[in-house]
Amino acid sequence: MDLIFAEATPSGRGGVSVIRISGDGARSVAEQLAGPLPKPRHAYLRDIADDVTVLDRALVMWFEAGHSFTGEEVVEIHLHGAPVIVRRLGQLLGSVGVRLAEAGEFTRRAFLNGKMDLSEVEGLGDLLAAETESQRLAALRMSSGELARKAEGWRSLLIRAGALVESSVDFADEDVPDEVPEEVFDLLEQFTNELDLQIGGYAAAERIRNGFEVAVIGPPNAGKSSLINRIARREVALVSDIPGTTRDIIELRLDLKGLAVTLLDTAGMRDAQDKIEGLGIDRARARAAASDLRLHLSPDGQADEDLWREGDLVITSKADLGSSEGGFAVSSLTGVGLDALLDQMFDRLSQRVAGAALVSHERQLNALISAREVVGSIKGPEPELVAEAIRQASSSLDQLLGRIGAEDYLDVIFQSFCIGK
Ligand code: GDP
Repeated sequence: MDLIFAEATPSGRGGVSVIRISGDGARSVAEQLAGPLPKPRHAYLRDIADDVTVLDRALVMWFEAGHSFTGEEVVEIHLHGAPVIVRRLGQLLGSVGVRLAEAGEFTRRAFLNGKMDLSEVEGLGDLLAAETESQRLAALRMSSGELARKAEGWRSLLIRAGALVESSVDFADEDVPDEVPEEVFDLLEQFTNELDLQIGGYAAAERIRNGFEVAVIGPPNAGKSSLINRIARREVALVSDIPGTTRDIIELRLDLKGLAVTLLDTAGMRDAQDKIEGLGIDRARARAAASDLRLHLSPDGQADEDLWREGDLVITSKADLGSSEGGFAVSSLTGVGLDALLDQMFDRLSQRVAGAALVSHERQLNALISAREVVGSIKGPEPELVAEAIRQASSSLDQLLGRIGAEDYLDVIFQSFCIGK
């Protein structure tokens, strides 16, 4: 592979900027600029210089192929964190044939060199994007190979089942039909049970990863935007006393005690006065219906019957004006009831997190579903058919980890990575 480089730290001013170089000959490129670097994994304080000038005094280290993040020879140069220094080093590297890496290229190389499987790559992407504690924890499990280890366990069930099937075939006696031993079906049942747990817990895991959606709904002037503003403690939604001003759905990302939540401020739900407003209302209602939770907000504590779902919260707004009957009351003016409301939201959402699976990406789910389906569809006791189903299930597990068929996904996955990762 050719030599690539990128800034591993965020660009801009900082204490230190780390530049990584990966590929065959990375060390010798670094030695051209920094002088001899005898030992791998040792930090050397060196002047970085071309033939003419010293660029910076930096900490330089290198990692041997096979013992680095990408699996290739890697150099790290820790420069002072000034954009001009980073830019100049980039030019220097360019002049000796090292090119700027593409988005996610370091991780792509780590995957291609067998340093990570595809679920770990996805986990790393999630970890780098994590905003809340629950996202961080789930991503860390995935990126440190927990799904991969589980998949190895499932694979070993299949291998044992497959071996038993093979041994049941009596090649010598073609007249007696071969029978698959009962133990094979026990193993396959264990396999499907474990996969069912993962498949059943996918929705919750996906919600942890992408965040829950909570729609604030209610008639115009109910105080939806004011409530969201109060929660955000900043102006995110337009507050006005002219009904129908919130035409588009405004989203607010929240970290609700570790859960990622998007609060949706829906358009005032009333009979539309014009076509555009009507479209906004249709969109808002559809989005609210599809949300994980709805906060039904109104001054008289009424729920929207069409959108009502079990578990929704009914809230009386403008509690400071004294209308506190029904549901529970909040005031965006005084802040009364807001903490209780956030507690309730957290309670309801966290109930759905219980039983979350490890699989949290649709790609992973699909691989598990196909493995589950092929084993579940075994009908008769013919060894050949059972053996074939086991082979197919095994190949779905290979897909889960990206051992086969990864090409179709790599570009999509690495789109979410930035340069330097
Ligand atoms: P929306 O149409 O449901 O988004 O309602 P808004 O948030 O725009 O609020 C409508 C009107 O009610 C505005 O004049 C707000 O100032 C007022 N309002 C909202 N919340 C409260 C509250 O808690 N107490 C009082 N007294 N007025 C409020």
